[in-house]
Amino acid sequence: MHYVSTRGRAPSLGFEDVMLAGLASDGGLYVPAEWPALEPDTLRGLAGAPYQEVAYRVMRPFVDGFADPRFRELIAEAYGGFAHVEVAPLVQIGPGHFLLELFHGPTLAFKDVALQLLGHMFDDVLRRRGERVTVVGATSGDTGAAAIEACRDREAIRIFILHPEGRISEAQRRQMTTVDAANVHNIAIRGTFDDCQALLKGMFNDAGFRREMRLSAVNSINWARVMAQIVYYVYAALQLGGPDRPVRFVVPTGNFGDIYAGYAAARMGLPVERLVVATNRNDLLHRFFGTGEYRSDAVVATQSPSMDIQVASNFERLLFDLCERDGAEVEALMRRFEAEGRFVIGDNRLARARELFLSASVDEAATTETIRRISRETGRLIDPHTAVGVAAAEATGPSPVPTVTLATAHPAKFAEAVMRATGEAPPLPPRIADLYEREEHCAVLPNDLAAVEEHIRQLAA
Ligand SMILES: *Cc1c(COP(=O)(O)O)cnc(C)c1O
Repeated sequence: MHYVSTRGRAPSLGFEDVMLAGLASDGGLYVPAEWPALEPDTLRGLAGAPYQEVAYRVMRPFVDGFADPRFRELIAEAYGGFAHVEVAPLVQIGPGHFLLELFHGPTLAFKDVALQLLGHMFDDVLRRRGERVTVVGATSGDTGAAAIEACRDREAIRIFILHPEGRISEAQRRQMTTVDAANVHNIAIRGTFDDCQALLKGMFNDAGFRREMRLSAVNSINWARVMAQIVYYVYAALQLGGPDRPVRFVVPTGNFGDIYAGYAAARMGLPVERLVVATNRNDLLHRFFGTGEYRSDAVVATQSPSMDIQVASNFERLLFDLCERDGAEVEALMRRFEAEGRFVIGDNRLARARELFLSASVDEAATTETIRRISRETGRLIDPHTAVGVAAAEATGPSPVPTVTLATAHPAKFAEAVMRATGEAPPLPPRIADLYEREEHCAVLPNDLAAVEEHIRQLAA
């Protein structure tokens, strides 16, 4: 499989190089040169198969460089650590309405599903090539732990995660700092999240440091992450009568990575009736699907912080297809967006997007009310991101086919919002029940690029 850039000017690359590169050299994102087909008979043959087998079948055409038994092993290792044997179980919450629980990984959110596999694949390629990388990242609380859990104990990777000292919750901090692995390094910066991001940018812009440390990132635009997310759409559809009955998916959306994986599944031939983009008050994408205008606004803080975005980085991948894969046109639109904060696509393109996508924006009151109502009706606690999905499913329904709303975080991960809505505190799952007793490992550094670089240099030596 070869991959091309959405901006059309970077060299076409194979899977491993795409995974190691992340972003393309022309600033675009890599996508497969063509979509491999999931034939109906192949899908029927997978009915009842374990998640790992579905994962292998769905991802195999995208991945070259990995020997067959090794690829199966990596999948087994990545998902062996999940707290549920099914990895991504379906549960019913109403007539024809199901939740796909994607939060059984080590950090209780759906990002583990892709990152656990990415960590193993990254490490495997690097070891074969005799290379080592330094993964650096900055977090405002939510995503750092998933990256740390993905990279911990991987021989060819060391990871440094920056967070703003005292500005993330204790639970978020502890999920990162209590990881006891020699290759994991937490750095609390005396500053804000913006300072952390500026330091990160400074490190990548320091060409000497970048080369010396072999800096790398595992961010959400990495194709391998998108690929790993295609699997659970297929897995869920198979349980609800696919490929002989289509399914509607509702996806709590921020950077558009998760729902783009659903789009990829549809392009590969999985019968998907509709994909519903569920946003919180940060409704950039809902407005786009309504009007064809893509325009960023100021970010507002909500109870579903992982969806508080003003730019949906993976959206460029869909745009590429809407522009008939004309990289020059995508580049022109993205340039306009960078310069003016907006662009508009034509009516026929918008109409094509709307054949598959529906959208809804859910405000804070409706999110809280949905958590409360689902608790009352089903006895189940759902997190605010999932609640945005459930409310969007209802706002865009009724659906003529089964609806699957993706449950992207465990309620205990957003306990305060759940508590506020229901009066009930979701218990910590057994695997992290002792989170508050574990020892923390973290350095505290000033908001100073030279100091941070020196610290990393010393620990990486
Ligand atoms: C990251 C995240 C999302 C949004 O996913 P995207 O791929 O960025 O659209 C939704 N819910 C939770 C809990 C997340 O962590």
